[in-house]
Parts: sequence; structure tokens; C-alpha cells
Amino acid sequence: MRTGSDLSASGVVWDVHAHYLPESALPKMGHGQVQVEIGTVSGIADSITVNGMAVGATVQQLADVGAIVEATDQAGIDRRVLSPPPFTYRYWDEADKSADLARLLNDATARAVEAHPDRFVGLATVALQDTNTAIAELRRAREELGLSGVTLGTNVAGGNVSDEVRLPFLAEVSESGMPLLIHPDFFPNSRTADYYLINVLGMPVESAITMANMIFSGLFDRFPELRVCFMHGGGVAPYLLGRWDRGWRVRPEAQVNIARQPSDYLENIYCDTLTHSPQTLSYLVEVMGHRNVVIGTDLPFDVEDPDPRGHIRKVPSLTQEQIDTIETVSPVRWLTGKDPA
Ligand SMILES: [Zn+2]
Repeated sequence: MRTGSDLSASGVVWDVHAHYLPESALPKMGHGQVQVEIGTVSGIADSITVNGMAVGATVQQLADVGAIVEATDQAGIDRRVLSPPPFTYRYWDEADKSADLARLLNDATARAVEAHPDRFVGLATVALQDTNTAIAELRRAREELGLSGVTLGTNVAGGNVSDEVRLPFLAEVSESGMPLLIHPDFFPNSRTADYYLINVLGMPVESAITMANMIFSGLFDRFPELRVCFMHGGGVAPYLLGRWDRGWRVRPEAQVNIARQPSDYLENIYCDTLTHSPQTLSYLVEVMGHRNVVIGTDLPFDVEDPDPRGHIRKVPSLTQEQIDTIETVSPVRWLTGKDPA
């Protein structure tokens, strides 16, 4: 069911994790420690590479809005939340270069949404290494461009999203009522350099590092209205909640900023369904609750889930009501803070 630009409509099947990148952004990312280039990989001429490694998507796949609409139809998805891919989070770069790129990306995302207001919602990106610049761009994205939330990477030049210097930015996100999407970066470690472990192992670890720091730092006591969605089923975090609770009970340093055990803060956290395993998805829903699980596909990367609705239906433990909630209710709760109208 398509219902125009109203985010709170009921019965709309959402995918919160899909990527869009305008071709005009590529020349701005060819420098520094994350060098984004176009090359021929496995005979495909417009493949995007990062430091020489294929990222699993072409320029055309990421930039062709019409093709994204088509793929959305094919997957039986009504609306997608578009965000730029993670190699655009260049928090290690000079702040003015990142801010310039963020403006270009946000303008382009807004145009894609404007062209298909009944199919897309857009998330803003910001130069998170400079808190004031990030706040200004978030306001511009919300007030002038009509973007509906914000996406952040996990590695802020070696720091965490929830570090004290960034609390004014997170206060702005919380006060605006916008949803926050945390997308993991590549994990820079020589021991995950082979076998694409940088993605299939490093990224889930990155998500867990960010989630743990958000919880243990007391971020959700400070901003109880914050709604944060983690990709790839929350990475390895859902599997570690018992250990985090145990650590909090026995270690004083884990209790410094929170008076409740870590798993008591899950109401603020949403995870997408992108687990590639019915068993893992079953466990995720059991741990997080179906009202905090949302569809995520990672369109158009090679690690995407092209049939997320079929995937959910392969989980024997899920009832139809839980499936409906994951598809149409939980995403609206994350986007707006309320159940669908
Ligand atoms: Zn992704």
C-alpha cells in the first residue's frame, strides 16, 4: 500500500536499510585513507572500489533511482529509507571537505525522495568530526531538505559516536525527534584483511562496539527519547547481551554511568532483519522483541537480502502478527516514535 509522504500511515511495508549514492559524489572521495575509485572488477566496468577492494556494487546500481524503484517493487516493499553507503562517512578527513560532501549527498538524497515521495524517505549524513558543523547540517537537512532522520558511521576518527564531544549533536537529534541509523564502517585491522572479513566479521563487531558504548555511557538515560537502529541484525551485539549484563553486575567500572543492567536499555534500540539466517533472525526477535526489529536489505550491495519478506517467513517461530509488526509497525515506531496512525 502506498500512501504518499506520510510516515505514520498503517499497512506500509518498509525497508529501512537501502543505499543511494549520486555519481557526482565520487570525485570527492578519491583521496586520503579511504580512496574510493571506479574500476573494472570481474569484468564489470563501473565497479566501486575502496583502497582497491571491490565494495560489491556498481556506480549504476547505487545511482540509478529508477532501478531502485524497480527493485523495491520486485521485493514487495512499499517504501525504502535511503542513506549513503558507509564509505561516504569520512570522519578522518578535514571537516570542511566532509561537510562539503555531506551537503552534496543530502541534496541528492532529497532530490531522489522528491522524485518518488511515495516510495522513499531520506536520511541525512553529517561531518561528525565537527559537532557544530554537524548540528548545522542536520538542521538544514531537516528544515530545508525535508530529510527524515540521520545516518552515522561507527568509527569517528578513532572515537565513538557517544563520546562527550558529540553529546550536543545527539541532543539535537533527540530534541528533533529524528531517528538515528548507525551503519558500521570497515574495521581497520590487519587480521581481518583477508577473505572479506573486513565486512562479514569486522562490520558486525563495529556495530557492537558502538551499541555497547551507547548503552554503558548512559546515553539512553540522558536522552530517553533517542531511537537508534543498528544494521545487520545489530551485528554481534544481541548475542553478547548476557555477557554485558554479567559484566555490569560484577565490575564497578561498568556501572559508572548506568544504574540499570545493559539489557534494560533495549527499548531505545532497533535492529534490522539482515542476518541471512532464519535461526539468527528467530533469536534476534526473541531477544529484541518484534516491535524493535525492522526489515533491512542493504540494497544494492552483493551482501544484500533480495527477498527479506520471504526470509522472515522462513522463521517458524514467528506468528503472522509478529511478521506484520516487523514489516509495517516497528519501522514507523523507529521513524516517528509512535505506532502507525
Ligand atoms: Zn548497508
